[in-house]
Amino acid sequence: MHRTSPQASLLQDTGFPSASSPPASASRASRGALIDQDRDHLVHPVAPWRAHEQRGVTVLESGQGCMLRDIDGNELLDAFAGLWCVNVGYGQESVVMAAMEQMRRLPYATGYFHFGSEAAIRLAAKLVEISPASLQHVYFSGGGSEAVDAAIRFIVQYYNNTGRPSKKHFLSLQRGYHGSSSTGAGLTALPAFHRGFDLPLPSQHYLPSPNPYRHASGDAQAVIDDSVAALRAKVAELGADNVAAFFCEPIQGSGGVIVPPRGWLKAMQDAARELDILFVVDEVITGFGRTGPMFACQDEGVEPDLMTLAKGLTSGYVPMGATLLSEKVYAGIADGAPAGAAIGHGTTYSAHPVAAAVGLEVIRLYQQGGLLANAQAIAPRFAAVLDGLADHPLVGDVRHRGLLGALELVSDKASKRGFDPALGLADLIGRTGYGNGLVFRAFADNILGFAPALCLGERECELLETRLRKTLDDVLKLPEVRSALAG
Ligand code: PLP
Repeated sequence: MHRTSPQASLLQDTGFPSASSPPASASRASRGALIDQDRDHLVHPVAPWRAHEQRGVTVLESGQGCMLRDIDGNELLDAFAGLWCVNVGYGQESVVMAAMEQMRRLPYATGYFHFGSEAAIRLAAKLVEISPASLQHVYFSGGGSEAVDAAIRFIVQYYNNTGRPSKKHFLSLQRGYHGSSSTGAGLTALPAFHRGFDLPLPSQHYLPSPNPYRHASGDAQAVIDDSVAALRAKVAELGADNVAAFFCEPIQGSGGVIVPPRGWLKAMQDAARELDILFVVDEVITGFGRTGPMFACQDEGVEPDLMTLAKGLTSGYVPMGATLLSEKVYAGIADGAPAGAAIGHGTTYSAHPVAAAVGLEVIRLYQQGGLLANAQAIAPRFAAVLDGLADHPLVGDVRHRGLLGALELVSDKASKRGFDPALGLADLIGRTGYGNGLVFRAFADNILGFAPALCLGERECELLETRLRKTLDDVLKLPEVRSALAG
């Protein structure tokens, strides 16, 4: 299918099978066996289980830079960096070496009972150095959901230990995503994460999304003012003595890449401070250069009480998440607990040394390796690719910040009406894109999400441009789509 070479200067040489080496595809027989075994045994996250069995798995085989190859030898531009996580791109040899070296020397060290490892200690110090000044302490976990879960548990402990045990209600945004742990999935405000799981809890509440496209006026200041007013109103309704914290993503990712106006995050922080509730920024997607700066909240000088990280922390090479705490929250927990008593939160793999070694190397690539600078330099070109599709008959809205972007498809641009879910447009467009050598996220409500690796180059932007336009054109040619369009 399509062939391209990754941006050489931002990628080191690797022993991996690359997108330009001959396909090492599985034989037809083993391919069939794999698909059967998947159907029989592997439970896929956030998938319709029976529909997945019928459809069959798409097996990915290798990657280099922004390019992927599947088991059939198809070459694909991955415009979603895996699951918005492979920020350094595939095939970074120095990351592999860092993991290998740590595995050889010490593959595991517990953080329990006062043990630790050099890599984890250095990574904690590095995160404190590069994150907002308010954040001074780091708890490591296995991923984003665990990081959010730890944040919730720490907040509960904080208020109990500081003599305000009534502060138990949590606020987040409609269409927010904060993972799928048994409590965190209730801060997530997407129906699939609640249905059949008895969520949200009575202590979990949502505020409207700061979505300029769906706002009555679309005026930036009005969007900000309405959000602040909604926060104040909800806290007044519940009583400030009962509200613990407000969780938000600086840009809502899984809810459809909703980009609030600049100034929104700072205004929400200021209101939360005034209302005496903790302000938690979930930068699992927006962290590590995704929106331009190292962390999105640094764009507005925001200093959260807690911050959750994952994905770009290790660029998906190994699993890891982190919960960063302010001195106030850390000290409140530490000093309010009975002297010598353990704070009973932890997992076997907290502060895993291999993940920490990978994290340190990945951050080196963002900084000294030039990836952050490259992402900032190429962002206007990425934006231009998406903006160039604004006049396409299917596109209602284009939004982006840094290397995070979305197209929202509508059936009627004037009324901003979406499509009948029975049309299955998201699945259709995802498959058409794949057939055109392009991977992106097709959300159920026909929002297309893009988050390419930070090693994105001009060549990949050209591929994105041509393959995305062709995908939209191909879908537009389908009679059922044409007839759904207004006028
Ligand atoms: N928080 C945000 C903002 C996320 O986008 C995600 C995952 O997409 C999570 C938390 C959960 O992270 P994980 O999937 O690593 O558990």
